[in-house]
Amino acid sequence: MFENLSERLGGVFDRLTKQGALSEDDVKTALREVRVALLEADVSLPVARDFVKKVQSQATGQAVTKSITPGQQVVKIVHDALIDVLRGEEEPGALKIDNPPAPILMVGLQGSGKTTTTAKLAKRLKDKQGKRVLMASLDTNRPAAMEQLAILGTQIGVDTLPIVKGESAVQIAKRAKQQATLGGYDVYMLDTAGRLHIDEVLMDEVQAVRDVATPRETLLVVDGLTGQDAVNVATEFDGKVGISGVVLTRMDGDGRGGAALSMRAVTGKPIRFVGLGEKMDALETFEPERVAGRILG
Ligand code: GDP
Repeated sequence: MFENLSERLGGVFDRLTKQGALSEDDVKTALREVRVALLEADVSLPVARDFVKKVQSQATGQAVTKSITPGQQVVKIVHDALIDVLRGEEEPGALKIDNPPAPILMVGLQGSGKTTTTAKLAKRLKDKQGKRVLMASLDTNRPAAMEQLAILGTQIGVDTLPIVKGESAVQIAKRAKQQATLGGYDVYMLDTAGRLHIDEVLMDEVQAVRDVATPRETLLVVDGLTGQDAVNVATEFDGKVGISGVVLTRMDGDGRGGAALSMRAVTGKPIRFVGLGEKMDALETFEPERVAGRILG
């Protein structure tokens, strides 16, 4: 995911660390290249600008240019600044799911990986935390999506709410809550319908479901390959329905990584998990330290 960015920054820092003594101009030139590399990775302009400004003010101080390993000091400052831009206050993978049955609302555009992620997360909660999970598909327009969730449920050993034809999304959400309560489930996950684009019908439906379910967590699933678009989608969903976090999918692909770097800074919402493939265990918590390490090689 971060190969190109990593390579570009690697080149910049190689030159810097080989140089020995550094002038403020050397640092400035290097940081200009960092800025270009970030923009090429599809990081949003204000985020790239702030990032470089922050690093610059720390890196042009006496302590750095006069130190024995100035280049390495700059790399360390960049590393810490990357972690800063990626990190939220909360533990990324820790979901608020006490007080059973805890509803988790899964939202996002069609094709983002929402259904796959719902199942991956259910499996994770079952395997790692021993939770009893019930999944329900609210995609009344696409019977295939409902069946897909049922098939995944069987595959991972997680129950799904039986499909009843003709129900609305809100009716399904109510039935899921009822069944989760009666059945003694810890968590129930509502996989809402997606559309190809954000529109009023989609948002109205998600809002109506949210109002009956009062979810403990509302996770937006977005395709990590779509860069700044992913951030725009997050901004829209947060404004309309309120999200508690983001799951970035397809981080195993060759996207440029900008979505991961801009998401927190632009939306104020943390990335909680990343999808790293189609398999049911290809979901990891988002660890800023690991990501910063991967970017800086
Ligand atoms: P939905 O329409 O948002 O529910 O999307 P789906 O869950 O049906 O996923 C669409 C396609 O993306 C499927 O083929 C998934 O296997 C694939 N997919 C989902 N998450 C990931 C991921 O993290 N990496 C990769 N490579 N593929 C993914």
